[in-house]
Amino acid sequence: MERVTDYQVVIIGSGPAGCTAALYLSRANIKVIVLEGMQPGGQLTITTEVENYPGFPEGIMGPTLMELMRKQAERFGAVFSALEPVEQVKFLEHPFEVHTDQKVYVAPAVIVASGASAKQIGLPSEQALQGFGVSYCATCDGFFFKEKEIVVVGGGDSAMEEATFLTKFAKKVTVVHRREELRASKIMQDRAHANPKISFIFDTTVDEVHGSKESGVTALTLRNLKTNVSTELKTQGLFVAIGHTPNTQPYVGQLNLDQAGYIALPHHNSTATNIQGVFACGDVVGHIYRQAITAARSGCMAALDCERWLTHERITERWGLEKGEEERVDG
Ligand code: NAP
Repeated sequence: MERVTDYQVVIIGSGPAGCTAALYLSRANIKVIVLEGMQPGGQLTITTEVENYPGFPEGIMGPTLMELMRKQAERFGAVFSALEPVEQVKFLEHPFEVHTDQKVYVAPAVIVASGASAKQIGLPSEQALQGFGVSYCATCDGFFFKEKEIVVVGGGDSAMEEATFLTKFAKKVTVVHRREELRASKIMQDRAHANPKISFIFDTTVDEVHGSKESGVTALTLRNLKTNVSTELKTQGLFVAIGHTPNTQPYVGQLNLDQAGYIALPHHNSTATNIQGVFACGDVVGHIYRQAITAARSGCMAALDCERWLTHERITERWGLEKGEEERVDG
């Protein structure tokens, strides 16, 4: 496997956190590569309009915002590598190794900004029909449901946003939520309630997705959690919008994780992890705010923390960039 030693910092993830870290580091003349993973640009590339990112009074489409962030970092020399998911890391020895399916990146510092992924309900029938009527991204797939009747599962802001967006295409959208109260913010709830194409089924769970790869989704078995009565609802699509899980699998056993699986940061107001020289930022460290702006903020913090650490450890001058030599440093 090819070993790449050209970079002082490997950034894992290309959402607002990774892009902001890349911008700050490359602008500070530090050689960085951003491993974009299988979803270049991160979660914002599967969202619709972003109305609350400062600087865009008319709003901006998520994919456009990410494209701009990437270009801004590239302007200062940051390198982006698409579709190279990280398979394993070696953080217990220095310099660190980041293994993708194609290469091994060897670098003195790493920033983990790998974000979080959409949760699944967990039904075998849901998995079997992914891409055949079951979707986790209205922006990507909404177009395919023109004039159809579809279901959105979830009661949070994502579910309201997806349902509202899907009414641009669908004839009817039914939101199925497991409780009688929505979790979504009032403004998102009000918007969904005011939309004549959206209706709600509360206290209900999806037990089974019916259909085939040929026919797509045809119906759902729903179960009322209060009465335990099951019913069948005919539908042509299922959009699952029930939250996210952190992308921390490659770090298990090396980086400390919290109970929910997010990377735990031991120091208040710092992005340093339990391993010196490894920093973490964005949705992979926190599930409270989960906004593009808060991810960008923590990406900026990670870049500054990382730059200070590299300077303090005098790694910048010791890392043989020209020859790509792997000088060992004592973290
Ligand atoms: P969330 O707030 O965690 O909501 C997840 C929803 O899915 C909840 O209603 C939850 O039900 C339900 N759920 C979870 N697991 C389920 C399961 N296995 N089966 C059925 N239902 C399940 O997640 P989110 O909506 O993705 O939002 C995450 C964060 O991003 C929030 O802070 C949100 O404000 C923010 N966000 C903001 C915007 C915006 O402002 N434009 C858009 C999207 C997201 P319970 O309520 O019963 O727990």
